[in-house]
Amino acid sequence: MGSQLRIQLTEQKKEKPASDKLGFGIHFTDHMFSMEYTEGKGWHDPQIVPYAPLVLDPAAMVFHYGQAVFEGLKAYRNQNGEVRLFRPDQNFKRLNRSLARLDMPQVDEALMLEALQKLVSIEKEWIPTEESTSLYIRPFVIATEPYIGVRAAHSYKLLILLSPVGAYYASGMKPVKIYVENSFVRAVRGGTGNAKVAGNYAGSLKAQTEAHAKGYEQVLWLDAIETKYIEEVGSMNVFFKVNGEIWTPALNGSILEGITRDSTIQLLKHWGMPVIEKRISIEELLQAHQNGQLEEAFGTGTAAVISPVGEMCWNDNIMKINGGETGSLTQKIYDSITGIQYGLAEDPFGWSVKVEE
Ligand SMILES: *Cc1c(COP(=O)(O)O)cnc(C)c1O
Repeated sequence: MGSQLRIQLTEQKKEKPASDKLGFGIHFTDHMFSMEYTEGKGWHDPQIVPYAPLVLDPAAMVFHYGQAVFEGLKAYRNQNGEVRLFRPDQNFKRLNRSLARLDMPQVDEALMLEALQKLVSIEKEWIPTEESTSLYIRPFVIATEPYIGVRAAHSYKLLILLSPVGAYYASGMKPVKIYVENSFVRAVRGGTGNAKVAGNYAGSLKAQTEAHAKGYEQVLWLDAIETKYIEEVGSMNVFFKVNGEIWTPALNGSILEGITRDSTIQLLKHWGMPVIEKRISIEELLQAHQNGQLEEAFGTGTAAVISPVGEMCWNDNIMKINGGETGSLTQKIYDSITGIQYGLAEDPFGWSVKVEE
């Protein structure tokens, strides 16, 4: 693609935010990547351009029928100045799976990886250097064709935005309180739960708001058919340490295949720990808790990497986990994955990809 990729740099650089004011997803860098798709012509005009608002026809199909998919990954800069991505190939593979599910056109994964490396390298100065900060990367694809008949669109736009983000845990890992949701569901087998599509999020917001009002930070989603089996926590995959074993819900078609989930499973196996992917009922967990065997619980996802769960509420049962504190295995997984992400720990799997400047 090298020769195909057009690069137009801006003279008007924005002021970079102070490192203690980064937050998450608030600030965007000076440039973005964009590419167009037109039926018959395929993907064309890959370019890096100044960050700017889009002009879309009000009839653009994304506004009406929601063909919108996205990805999320990060670039990390360590104290040696090295910039790294974590398993970025997996994000573009998953982007293609999500695109396929919404009947949207596939992208060339190698081209995307190359374009992303170039964009990150151009915006290198935007990657914060303070411990645990990073540059969040948001690739997404929307249907742009102006048409309000119902069918898959014939034109699309792919963009990649970059946003410097602060440390998720500014003052150490903090366990979250989780509300087990009994009436709303996130996804159902055969639906779009295992694709990273905007609509899944739209449908999950009300439960999240209600959980917040009850004093809980996240929702634990149960399966849509029996409201009995554990699926995910908020927008993270979930793991439980029960009597020395590590359990996580098996991929069943409605669970999103998290890259952090996969990395966690591979690490645990590498350490010789018993990881079991299976159907886990909430009753089984409550039992384990009552028997004193529910030792740790945590969510996995790119934003937080690992999010310890300190308490779960299901109906009227409050399950306090590890005294509401971060468990030692939870902490060990967090330290190991972040060590690899920043290029500061041994990387036996070759997950960390250095961005050439
Ligand atoms: C993105 C996402 C995850 C986490 O995936 P990672 O690849 O680990 O960031 C989990 N669940 C849902 C619903 C998601 O959208």
